Amino acid sequence: MYQAVKGTQDILPADRAYWRYVTEQMHAVSALFGLQQIDTPIFEETSLFVRGVGEGTDIVDKEMYSFQDKGGDDLTLRPEFTAGVMRAFIEHGMHVLPRPVKLYSIGPIFRHEAPQAGRYRQFHQFNVEMLGEMDPAVDLDVMSVAWMLLTRLGYRGLNFQLNSTGCRKCRPGYRAALVDYFKAYEDRLGDVDRRRLAINPLRLLDSKEPAVQPLLDAAPHSADHLCDECATHLAGLRGYLAALGMPYTINFRLVRGLDYYTKTVFEVWAEGIGSQSAVCGGGRYDGLVEELGGPPTPGIGFAMGIERVIASLKQQGITPPALAEPRVQVSPLGEAARLPAIRLVNDLRAAEIGALLAFGGRSLKSQLKSADKAGVAYTVILGDTELANGVAVVRDMASSQQETVAADGIVDWLRARVIRNT
Ligand code: AMP
Repeated sequence: MYQAVKGTQDILPADRAYWRYVTEQMHAVSALFGLQQIDTPIFEETSLFVRGVGEGTDIVDKEMYSFQDKGGDDLTLRPEFTAGVMRAFIEHGMHVLPRPVKLYSIGPIFRHEAPQAGRYRQFHQFNVEMLGEMDPAVDLDVMSVAWMLLTRLGYRGLNFQLNSTGCRKCRPGYRAALVDYFKAYEDRLGDVDRRRLAINPLRLLDSKEPAVQPLLDAAPHSADHLCDECATHLAGLRGYLAALGMPYTINFRLVRGLDYYTKTVFEVWAEGIGSQSAVCGGGRYDGLVEELGGPPTPGIGFAMGIERVIASLKQQGITPPALAEPRVQVSPLGEAARLPAIRLVNDLRAAEIGALLAFGGRSLKSQLKSADKAGVAYTVILGDTELANGVAVVRDMASSQQETVAADGIVDWLRARVIRNT
C-alpha cells in the first residue's frame, strides 16, 4: 500500500473550509495593502538558493530538495519564496515600477526537516515582499499585513517579537563582539554550535542547546552595536508600532534562520498556541537583490505557515464559514424521467443553484436517504405521472412537506427559496 511520503500530507475535503477561509482572507487583506500576486516556479536553479539563502544556514546545508534533472541541470524545490521572487523581480526589470513594489505569493514550500507536529517537509506559505523603499513605514506596512490578517482570522493576544540585526556597516562589529564573547566558552559548545561560531555566529543566538542557554543571557545584543542609520530605523519603526497600539517585545535572540536579513527582523507570536507560537516571521533584506545580480534595492517581507495557522485556528476553536454545497437534489423515478432530470439539474446549475442528480435508478426511499446525507434543502421528484402532467414534486427535506410545482417554473420556485450558491 502506498502512503503519502513522510513529512507530506493530503489536504482532504474535510479541511477545505479552513483552507478556503484562510487563503481568501490572505487575498482580501493583500488587496487592502495594494499587494499584487506573483507566482514563481516551484523549482529554481540550486545556486539561486545557495546564494540567496546563504551557506551555513540550516536550509542550504541540510534541508533542500536538490536534484539533477534529465538534462543535467542542478535544481531545487523552493525551500522559501524570497529568492525566487527576487529572481523574478530582477528578470522582469520590476525595479522600474512605482515603489515600493508590493508582491505576495501563496504556495508549497519544501524542506527536508525532521517531521513532527506542525513541521512538515511539504508545507504552504503566504509570503509578502515590499521592495524599493528604506522607509521604516514600509516595515510597519509589512508587519501590519500579518497583524491585520491574523486579527481578521480571529487571533487574539498577538505580539511582535522584534530585533534589528544591523547592516553591512555595523554587523561585522557585532559579529566580532559575539565571536569574542563565545570564544571564551568554546569548550562548552557542542559540534553544531562550534561550527556556527566559525561560520555564522549570529545563529548561536537561536541555539537550542541547554549548555548554551546560560551563556546567552550575557551575550552582546545587536541593538547595542547598531550604526546611526540602523538605530534611527529601529526607533522609527518602534514609534509607528507604538502609535498603532501593536504590542512588541524586543527580542535580542531573534536573528531568524536566513542569512540575508538586515535591520528589522520580526516574528508574530500568538497566545495559547503552544510550541509553534511563531505563526509568521520575516525581516528586511536590503542587500539581497544586489547579491542576486540586480540593482541595489532594499526590501522587506515575511512568510506565514498556512498549516500552522490552520492548526492554531482549530486549537482556538475558531471555525471557518461553511463552504457552499448543493442545496437541491433531483431524483428521477424510472427511465423516462432521466433526461428531463438531467436537463433540470443543468438548468439549476446554470441559474447558480448547486444541484445533484440522483444516479443509478435506485428506489425513492434510498434516493431520499442520500439527499438527506448530502444535506440538500429540497429534493425534486420526477416520475411518470409528474412528467405526464408537466409538473414535479418538491420535497422540503427538513419538514418532509411535499408540494407540486409546474415543471417550467421550477427553477424560479427554487431560486426564490434556496440560498444562492456562488
Ligand atoms: P521561515 O520561512 O522559516 O521563516 O518560516 C515562516 C513560517 O513558515 C513559520 O513561522 C511557520 O509558520 C512556517 N513553517 C516553517 N517551516 C515549516 C515546516 N517545516 N512545516 C510547517 N510550517 C513551517
